[in-house]
Amino acid sequence: MAKDHFRVFDYIFVGAGISGPFIANDLCREGADCLMLEAGQHYTRRTYPTNGLDGTSQMYWSGGLELGHDAKIAFLRPKVVGGGSIVNQALVDRFDDVALDDWRSASGITDFTVADMATWYDQAESEIEIQEIPAKFRNKNAEIFDQGFKNLKFDNAPLMRAQSNCRLEEGNCCIECLNGCRLGSKQSTPETVLKTALENGLSLASQIEVTQIIENKGDIRVIGVDAKGGQVSYRARNLVLGGGAIGNARLLLNSGFGKKLPHIGKGFFCHPQFMSFGIYDEKINSHTGAFQAFKSDDKGFRKEGFKLENVYAGPEGIALLVPDFGRIHHEHMEKLSHFACIEVCTRDTNPGQVKVSRRGKALIRKVQNKEDIHRYEKGAKVIDDIFKSTGARQIVHGRFAIGLHLMGCCAIGTDPGSSVIDPEFRLHGHKNIFAADSSIFPNAPGINPSLTIMALSKKASASILRSR
Ligand SMILES: Cc1cc2nc3c(=O)[nH]c(=O)nc-3n(C[C@H](O)[C@H](O)[C@H](O)COP(=O)(O)OP(=O)(O)OC[C@H]3O[C@@H](n4cnc5c(N)ncnc54)[C@H](O)[C@@H]3O)c2cc1C
Repeated sequence: MAKDHFRVFDYIFVGAGISGPFIANDLCREGADCLMLEAGQHYTRRTYPTNGLDGTSQMYWSGGLELGHDAKIAFLRPKVVGGGSIVNQALVDRFDDVALDDWRSASGITDFTVADMATWYDQAESEIEIQEIPAKFRNKNAEIFDQGFKNLKFDNAPLMRAQSNCRLEEGNCCIECLNGCRLGSKQSTPETVLKTALENGLSLASQIEVTQIIENKGDIRVIGVDAKGGQVSYRARNLVLGGGAIGNARLLLNSGFGKKLPHIGKGFFCHPQFMSFGIYDEKINSHTGAFQAFKSDDKGFRKEGFKLENVYAGPEGIALLVPDFGRIHHEHMEKLSHFACIEVCTRDTNPGQVKVSRRGKALIRKVQNKEDIHRYEKGAKVIDDIFKSTGARQIVHGRFAIGLHLMGCCAIGTDPGSSVIDPEFRLHGHKNIFAADSSIFPNAPGINPSLTIMALSKKASASILRSR
């Protein structure tokens, strides 16, 4: 029997990732009575896991990697208060006209333009601090990336990061912030909009996984499971879905919405990313200091559907990606401090699909077609050239793709036959269910998604407030 909470909230939010807290902050500021339910745990600066293995197993769904039907892409899906903003690399970029033109034609929504979106990007950026890594703090891995681009005459640019004060002069290593930033510098939602939403009256319940939503005479009943496996139930006049691409699709399908909205679960994209390692005679120590500083900014790459980033990961991540077993794997791992790393991120063209099993589990089908593989190969060739031109003794390509930017499954659009969310951010045909998170992306932009999730959430909260 579900434990019922009889208070009827104005809004219940599913998921405390990026989108949910951005919208809740705006609604709470206007006096709305809001409850946010999050399946993951609520950590603070003092309680984040202190090593990569604990971080991955405690802050992601399924204890770390989730695999699609053919196990060719490993998906990383955050499960923690703050969602992706706790574990991500905090790189923020506005979408360009290439991405927004494609969104306009896929969705039929005419204000997906650089000019119209500028207002919402401005508002999103006003909630966080964004900085570039000062040149004096770039590490050796970043220098190799930059030198390689210069040697090959490609364009690159500094990465913009959502951070406020990493105190790099004290010797801090930002790679640690992939398990949550202990300095409070990373502009995660618990450090920014979630904090102010809580100050303005938001109720937050962590370790509650929402399993079903039921519409009932204008109200919505939200059923969930708590950390001990007990059923809980809440009521609200409105619901905001912020569970991300897979989370929202799974919940809507398990709640029976797929019958009227056949596009739920379709149009899943993930920007498959591949890390490659150059092994040098000298120590590179890619994990130290500001572990990322540059990205590609080359019009040719954009046209060809890939981008390169100067990145690194913890030893457990690198060990998973380095190919071979036994002695050969061991020999590679012994040289870890000599590794430089560059990642190719592809703008995937072949949509995948999320369905649910009879037990309600998410089943992911995502295939990279010939074009997607071709995009990766072109990026990998440039990486080879960068490493060779900067003196790498050996080049090792990661053995599988990683999906970090999970997008789509509830595409926004004007046509209920080919989309799920309407231009006012409502579930088609349902006036009190909203979404503006990564699930509403109509296709893959090929650009880091989180700043646009924040901007769309700002646009959605303005629309929700207008219609109250
Ligand atoms: C390692 C990593 C690095 C990344 N780096 C970058 C980067 O540098 N720049 C960038 O732009 N993007 C990056 N991303 C992607 C970015 O973080 C995501 O696109 C973004 O977090 C998505 O935001 P969201 O609000 O849609 O969902 P999320 O942030 O994923 O939040 C969804 C939340 O909903 C919760 N939830 C889901 N279902 C339920 C349910 N049924 N009941 C209760 N709670 C539920 C989840 O537990 C989760 O906490 C990265 C992602 C990862 C994993």
